[in-house]
Amino acid sequence: MEPTTLPPPPAADWLAHRRHLHARVAQVERLIGPSQVAWMRGKPRVWSEAEMAGLWKSAAEASGGRSANHLYVHVPFCKSICAFCNYDRLKPSSADGLREWRDRVLASMRTLGPAVRDLSFHALYFGGGTPSVLPSAILREVFEGLDAQFRWHPFASRSIELDPATVNASKIRAMVDHGFDHFSFGVQTRSAHVNVQHNRGPQGPSTVDRCLDLLPGPLLSTVAVDVLIGLAGVTPDDTLADAEALMLHPRRPRVDLFHLTPTRSYVQSHFGGSRDRASDALARYDDPFRDRLARLAHRCGYALHNADSHHFHTLHPQGRSRYTSVQNLRDLGGQLGRDLQSLAAKYRAGKTLRIRGPRHGYTQLANTAGRQHNLLGLGPSARSQIFGIASAQTIPAAGQSGRTAYRGATIDPSDELRTFIIFDIRDHAFVDEKRVQKIFNTTFAESFADALSVWLEEGFVQPASNGWRFQRRRPEVLSTLMLWLVPDQILEQVIEDKSQQTARKHGESQPNARSRAPRP
Ligand code: SF4
Repeated sequence: MEPTTLPPPPAADWLAHRRHLHARVAQVERLIGPSQVAWMRGKPRVWSEAEMAGLWKSAAEASGGRSANHLYVHVPFCKSICAFCNYDRLKPSSADGLREWRDRVLASMRTLGPAVRDLSFHALYFGGGTPSVLPSAILREVFEGLDAQFRWHPFASRSIELDPATVNASKIRAMVDHGFDHFSFGVQTRSAHVNVQHNRGPQGPSTVDRCLDLLPGPLLSTVAVDVLIGLAGVTPDDTLADAEALMLHPRRPRVDLFHLTPTRSYVQSHFGGSRDRASDALARYDDPFRDRLARLAHRCGYALHNADSHHFHTLHPQGRSRYTSVQNLRDLGGQLGRDLQSLAAKYRAGKTLRIRGPRHGYTQLANTAGRQHNLLGLGPSARSQIFGIASAQTIPAAGQSGRTAYRGATIDPSDELRTFIIFDIRDHAFVDEKRVQKIFNTTFAESFADALSVWLEEGFVQPASNGWRFQRRRPEVLSTLMLWLVPDQILEQVIEDKSQQTARKHGESQPNARSRAPRP
């Protein structure tokens, strides 16, 4: 059923005011993707860890078992920092840095754990960075802390990100012993040469295969690998060949293809500073690349999801054509045999046996959870989101000293709704009013009538069955359109923050009075 009443056009003076405000934002903030706008928040503040525990306690008491509760552990270390990585808070790993990280995370668990005793956690995600840089002894200490301090739903999923070059059998054993049932790692490209050029070391096909071979079989886990679209030195044909090799691997991982975000430094170092060259390189992955990818997926027994997205595509193995040859069946037999041996060893050791079955999927978004969503983040730079109460990041960043605290902003349900709407538009080009009503007890049309009216006028959206259907737009265009959802005071805050940052940078780049003074 299509929405019957369309919002009235907004007043002309409001439109003029907003266009002016958006132009001011564009002057201070380079908008490269809609998620930037989704996470725009109001006046920043800092909470101590004890204050954060208080916020969690009130959220746990108010939840009444209705919310999805997920826990994210951020490991901000990698063996080396890849040239295209836009997570600017990562550090190359060091033994001291890893031990300090462990102590901070265990201390946070002891403070926050008792506050959320009333919450049952549905999913755990270890990300970063690459958690596989942690030695197996530290992995076990942290896993034991999580089991001791938090209450886990019986169908809670446990996921972890790996770097194929830092994984070994004893780390995987620690993960499997503690119930990890989803593994993901970045391949980016199977070209060792291009990986070297991007400061990733000489990771080639054998590194990838070794990692896939170390992981448990399909009885105990699922596997996803990432490939990056648009890397300098890689052609669309290379990307298709990589995707094919991964889909034909006996472990049959899910393959996620992400579009590279052309940061300023990446454009400078790989495209001679030319944004046009970087955009042209990415445009080669529009059609006919997507058609070819869809056909290739079909041939390999996979299905292509999100074909139209400018953000990511996913290749999912299809059950029906999964085991079609004698070799496939042999591979499957070998993997299941390993899984059964692993289960038998656990049984002999008196540990809990968990066969991969229906699990709650991990997400950072209410969109995917399909209900109100809390995210408890542990570790420097981890993001926490207490539904309709606070959104914060753990400080200080990795490698900096100081007490653990949380910097962020208080939020209300309308901030949550804005984030929800932006991700639905980005990922599905559709807003489902029934889902909005169920989670937020309001509708998109009621809450954002002015933005909707502007978008209808511009032909960006049209009414559809049970919701609103949007045009697909490039990320930078989409992010500008999303500004219509952000309240004035938050945009003013963005302008103030960015202007201050620029002024500070400008001040730092000026020689100070002492250095300008003539030498004695
Ligand atoms: S391994 Fe992943 S997280 Fe680490 S620097 Fe490379 S891209 Fe970034």
